[in-house]
Amino acid sequence: MYEHPRRISVKLAAKSNVLRFLNTHKIMKIELLKGDITKIEVDAIVNAANTSLLGGGGVDGAIHKIGGKQILDECIEVRNRQGGCKVGEAVITNAGKLPAKKVIHTVGPKWNNNKSDEEQKLKNCYVNSLKLAEENALSTIAFPNISTGIYKFPKEKAAEIAIKTVKEFDAKILEKVVFVCFDDENFHLYKKLI
Ligand code: ADP
Repeated sequence: MYEHPRRISVKLAAKSNVLRFLNTHKIMKIELLKGDITKIEVDAIVNAANTSLLGGGGVDGAIHKIGGKQILDECIEVRNRQGGCKVGEAVITNAGKLPAKKVIHTVGPKWNNNKSDEEQKLKNCYVNSLKLAEENALSTIAFPNISTGIYKFPKEKAAEIAIKTVKEFDAKILEKVVFVCFDDENFHLYKKLI
């Protein structure tokens, strides 16, 4: 069938716009797992670190214990360069002996009835970790339930913030986000909310 050349070029232009959209906006897959984040094979696992970046308890302790000295050495390099990591911000290091390729260390806020804007700071942890993953061309990332352990952030509120922030993120490279829940309570909350 004869088609007018202009009609063809309009069709091609429309198609290339669709392709451009598909190339720049990814629909991220969200997965939920119950278990230990140090065992997850993804491009990056996120650590709920503290501002010193020198390791601590909870998930931070587990990551440094199993990942080994290589991670701490790079954390010390980051500290020497920029003096630790502020609440809500994120830095990236190697993953030592862990199955993941990288560790993104973010510092969650300590819960204080939202008097210091902890809800916004927790949101920043997720956004800044996702951005850092994209800047490093990573396509899969796993999060623990940041701030819900030693830092006592209310679990349901933290889960709502984590899920909403990830769903709203405009991904260009990331393809999959895994929420790794260590305790039953978080796992059931995430299952209900995702
Ligand atoms: P925070 O100081 O940010 O509260 P914690 O490490 O104390 O950090 O706790 C954050 C979350 O990580 C908690 O929900 C805790 O149950 C969970 N957690 C502890 N160890 C692990 C682990 N090995 N893998 C995944 N999550 C973990």
